[in-house]
Amino acid sequence: SVECRNIRMSYGKTEVLKDINITIEPGEFFALLGPSGSGKSTLLRLIAGFNQHQSGQLLVDGQDISHVPPHKRNIGMVFQSYALWPHMTVWDNVAFGLVERRASREDIRQKVTQALETVGLLHLAKRRPNELSGGQQQRVALARTIVIEPQVLLLDEPLSNLDKNLRVQMRQELLSLQRRLGITTIFVTHDQEEAMTTADRMAVMDQGVVQQVGSPSTLYDFPVNRFVADFVGTMN
Ligand code: ATP
Ligand code: MG
Repeated sequence: SVECRNIRMSYGKTEVLKDINITIEPGEFFALLGPSGSGKSTLLRLIAGFNQHQSGQLLVDGQDISHVPPHKRNIGMVFQSYALWPHMTVWDNVAFGLVERRASREDIRQKVTQALETVGLLHLAKRRPNELSGGQQQRVALARTIVIEPQVLLLDEPLSNLDKNLRVQMRQELLSLQRRLGITTIFVTHDQEEAMTTADRMAVMDQGVVQQVGSPSTLYDFPVNRFVADFVGTMN
C-alpha cells in the first residue's frame, strides 16, 4: 500500500499540497484526477522521491520512506514528458535501467525481452524512438519502467500525447497489463472519463486539496461538494 498522512508541501512560500491523506491499497489502479495546477504531478513526484514534503508521512507497505532517496524506493515512474534516449534503440532504452543497476547480461536479455513482449513491441526492438509512433513511444516508456519490476507504478498522464482512438485503446491495454502484473498503480489524469472508466478508486484534487476519495460510482452518485459534482459529472 501507499499511504499519505497529513502531507504538506510548498514551493517557496506557496503551499501546493495541503494536508493530503490518501491510502492506495495493494494491487489497486488508483486515479488522481484534477484540473491543471491542482498538484497531481507534485504529489506523484513526492511519492517517487523527487519532491520533499515539509511535514507528514509517506508510507509504503507500512514503512515511512520520507527520507529514502528516489533510487532506493523501488518505485517506477513514467513522467508527463517522458523522454526516451533518441540515440539509443528501443532495446537499449528499455535495458538502460538494468544496466545502471549492474544486472547480468543474461538477466538483462530475459527481462528486456519480457518487458517488450508485455507492451507488444519486441518486433521493433532495433528501431530508434523517432522511427516510432507516439503510442509506440509511450509503450517504450512504460516498458522501460516495468522492466525494473517496481513495487509501485506511478504514471503521470501517460496517454496525454495520443489521439482519442489510440488513447482509448492504450487505456484498455494499460489496465489489462496492470491487472496481469498486479502492481499497485497511481495514474494521473485531468480527463474525467479516463479516470471514471479505468480506476478502482480515485481522488479528486483541487488547489492542493483532496476533495474526495472513492470509487468512480461513489463520486458520481454522491459527490461531497459542487466542485466534485461538476468535475466528475462533465463527461466529455
Ligand atoms: P497539470 O495538469 O497541468 O499537469 P498538476 O495538477 O500536475 O497540473 P502541478 O504540476 O503539481 O499541477 O503544480 C501544482 C502547483 O505547483 C501549480 O500551481 C504550479 O504552478 C506549482 N509548481 C509546480 N512546480 C513548481 C516548481 N518547480 N516551482 C514552483 N511552483 C511549482
Ligand atoms: Mg501535471
